[in-house]
Amino acid sequence: MSLVVQKYGGSSVADADAVKRVARRIVETKKAGHQVVVVVSAMGDTTDNLVDLANQVSPQPAAREMDMLLTAGERISMAVLAMAIHDLGVQAHSYTGSQAGLITDSKHGRARIIDVTPGRIEAALEAGAIPIVAGFQGVAQTTKDITTLGRGGSDTTAVALTAALHADVCEIYTDVDGIFTADPRIAPTARQVPRITYEEMLELAANGAKVLHLRCVEYARRFDMPIHVRSSFSARPGTLVVSEGRTLDLASGLFSADRAARTTIGGTTLEQPIIAGVAHDLGDAKVTVVGVPDKPGEAAAIFQTLADAEINLDMIVQNVSAASTGRTDVTFTCPMGDGKKALAALENARDVVGFESLLYDDQIAKVSLVGAGMRSHPGVSATFFRALADAGVNVEMISTSEIRISVVTRADDVEASVQAVHSAFGLDADGEAIVYGGTGR
Ligand code: ASP
Ligand code: MG
Repeated sequence: MSLVVQKYGGSSVADADAVKRVARRIVETKKAGHQVVVVVSAMGDTTDNLVDLANQVSPQPAAREMDMLLTAGERISMAVLAMAIHDLGVQAHSYTGSQAGLITDSKHGRARIIDVTPGRIEAALEAGAIPIVAGFQGVAQTTKDITTLGRGGSDTTAVALTAALHADVCEIYTDVDGIFTADPRIAPTARQVPRITYEEMLELAANGAKVLHLRCVEYARRFDMPIHVRSSFSARPGTLVVSEGRTLDLASGLFSADRAARTTIGGTTLEQPIIAGVAHDLGDAKVTVVGVPDKPGEAAAIFQTLADAEINLDMIVQNVSAASTGRTDVTFTCPMGDGKKALAALENARDVVGFESLLYDDQIAKVSLVGAGMRSHPGVSATFFRALADAGVNVEMISTSEIRISVVTRADDVEASVQAVHSAFGLDADGEAIVYGGTGR
C-alpha cells in the first residue's frame, strides 16, 4: 500500500460535475488499495474573482484581509469535494491549511512554509478517512494570522505535505497531460515530455511557466522527491520531475512504495534532450534609469534603493557609457505589479543616485529557452537568435544562465517568438496538444 498525495488544480474542480469526477478518481485510488491525501485549489477562476472584488472595494487592500479573503476559495472546494466523496460511500474530512499544520512565516501574500505538523491528517488516515486539505494557505507561527503562499501555491502545499507525511508519491493534477515544451495555449504544437529535471523545471517555472509553482519545485528538489504531473481529465502517464539521471517507470502509474527502489525500478533511462522547453512571461515591466554618471557606487546606489523597496529584480543590463557625456543607462525588469513602486523609490532617491530620467514600459514579454544540454552543445544561441530574426522579432534585452537564454521582446511578439524558437529546435509535435479545461486566466 502506498501513501499518495494528489493535488487538484482549479480547472480540475471548476464546477459541480468536475468536483464529482475528481471525487470518483480519488475514490478509485483508495479502492486500488492506497492511502490518499488530497490537496485542492479554489474552483475555476474563484481566486481571480476574489482579487477583482477586493480591488473594487479598496484601491490598496490590506494584506492580512486579502489573505483571509483568498483562502475562502479553497474552503469552498475542499468542503464540496468532501461531500462528493461521502456520496460515493467513503469517509472524507476537509481541513484548512492551518488545521492541516501548515505553519508559515508572517509575510502575507507570499508566506513561506517553515514547519508542517500534520497530526490531524495522520489521524484521519489512521481512521480510514480521506483528508482533503485546502491548498495555498497556512497560519503564521508568530502572529497566528492566516497566510497565503502566493498565486499557484497549492502545488507547494502538496509537496510540503508529501515530504512531511513521508508519502510515496506527489501527483499534481492539472488541465493538460503534463509538462510541455511550451505553453500549449500559445504553441499548439507543444510536445508533452515524459521527464524533466528539477533544474530545468526551476528555470521554466521562474521564467513564466505556470504549470508548477516555483517553490514547489525548489521544495521537491531539496527533498529529492519526484513530482508526477498529469491531467485529471485523462489517464495518460504525464510527466515526472526528477533529479538528473534517475531511471523511472511511468507505465506502472505509481511508484514503488519503497523510496529507494524508485531510482531503479524497471523502465529505461531516457536520453537527455538538449532543450527542455520554451517559457514565456507577460508579467514583467522594464525600467530604464537614463543618464547615470559612470562612476563607482552608482549601480550600488540604484540597487540598494530597489532592495530597500523590496523589489525583486530579474534581468539587469548596463549600457556602455557614451564617451561624450560620461553617462550610461541602466535597465532592469521586475514584476509588473512592482513597477510603479520601483519608479517611486528611484524618484525619491534621485539626489543620492543622480540620473537624468526614468522610462517605464510594461508592454514587454520575456521568452526563455531552457535545457540542461545547452551546457555541452555549441550553436544553441545562434539557432535561437536566428529563429527570432527570421520571425521579425526585435530583441531588447538578453540574459543567460548555464542552462537558459532569455530575451525581452515586445508583448505583441510573444506568440511568434515562442513558436519560432519551438520550431527551430525541432520541438514541434505532429498533432495539436490538448488543453482540457481552464480559462488560462
Ligand atoms: N487558488 C490559488 C490561485 O489561484 C492557489 C492555487 O491555485 O494553487 O492562485
Ligand atoms: Mg497551478
